[in-house]
Amino acid sequence: MTSRLLAGGVDADGDRVDVRVEDVTGTTTAVGPTLDRVPGEEVVDCTGLVVLPAAAEPHVHLDKVATIREAPNPSGELMGAVRAWLDHAPSLDAADVRGRALAAVDDYVRNGATAVRTNVNLHATIDLQVLEAILDVRTAVADRCELQVVGLFMPPLSGDGEVAEANRALIDVACELGIDAIGSAPVTDADPEATIELLAAAAVRWDRAIDLHIDETLDPTSRTLLAFAAAVERHGLGGRATAGHCVSLGMQALDEQESTAARLAEAGIAAVALPTTNLWLQGRAQPTGTPRGVTAVRRLLDAGVVVATGSDNIEDPFCPLGRADPFDAARLLSLTAHLSPAEAWAAASTSSRASLGLAASGLAVGGAADLVAVAGRDLGEALARGSARRTVLKGGRVVARTTVTTTAGA
Ligand SMILES: [Zn+2]
Repeated sequence: MTSRLLAGGVDADGDRVDVRVEDVTGTTTAVGPTLDRVPGEEVVDCTGLVVLPAAAEPHVHLDKVATIREAPNPSGELMGAVRAWLDHAPSLDAADVRGRALAAVDDYVRNGATAVRTNVNLHATIDLQVLEAILDVRTAVADRCELQVVGLFMPPLSGDGEVAEANRALIDVACELGIDAIGSAPVTDADPEATIELLAAAAVRWDRAIDLHIDETLDPTSRTLLAFAAAVERHGLGGRATAGHCVSLGMQALDEQESTAARLAEAGIAAVALPTTNLWLQGRAQPTGTPRGVTAVRRLLDAGVVVATGSDNIEDPFCPLGRADPFDAARLLSLTAHLSPAEAWAAASTSSRASLGLAASGLAVGGAADLVAVAGRDLGEALARGSARRTVLKGGRVVARTTVTTTAGA
């Protein structure tokens, strides 16, 4: 067993804290203002750093990372991005996908995330080698990051057409290959409720989580989220179900937001707010009073829903400016949803882990020793400044350490 002492840092509130971790059980074994060093243990100097639970990225698209040059979307609209990707996807090269995804995961680890859930687009015209490349990355990074893969099965999925049948057949193929969760964007299918039903049934059949792009529409009459809640309850998928984006919920009347949020809490559905991409894609047709496109985060939190946040798209046709940095995601959620720094970091870290079904991490004895220490006097300063100076631990082992050197006069 190797134990490590994270010494000299502060906690989120800025109070002195030492943390002892060990790498066999991968847990935190002691927490206190000052801990005596045990002979032989390694000391990780955290002077000037805030020690926090590590982040988890609940929603990214590693197959698309850094493709903005090959697949531009001049309109900046959602449908422009969908078309740009459909045009580009058949020319994807598996080795290139693997290289881009691997680099992005390592960026995430450096920046403080030790778990990542990625979507991979799957439809009849896409080469399965793309999925295999991402599954290969999952194995390659296992020592430093738990990567979960969601098959993002593209509509049409419900109905009798030949394409829908071919797309549906891919669900079994991808589950056989080993995806962790079943995903889709059902609101873009002809019959969203039928699509949700067949996806939920497949999740039960294959014993997988379900994680849907529930809607990216500013239309307040969209009710896909309620159909999802009903399906999750019908199929007993509570606790393994995630609703991404939920943009329409942010546009609805307060009482509707409250009742839908209560339904999600009851059904055991986690929500993922994704401001980076939604700020970019939504609201372009409304030049005055432009909506933010962010879901009703406060109402969801008040109802007891697990609310996570992440980057979604990184330099791709859906968003040219996303970054593999959970501190960016948390800062943007704080700004757009009016959350305190503590609430925003919880969304990017502990709640994201919960949405991925992972054991809780943090500064508590017995918790998973997945931690990030970042420059700052407290969480608020760390979030405001987003310093690159970070030390990241997964399962009690240091998996990344970034130092910053500035040369005077340079
Ligand atoms: Zn997405």
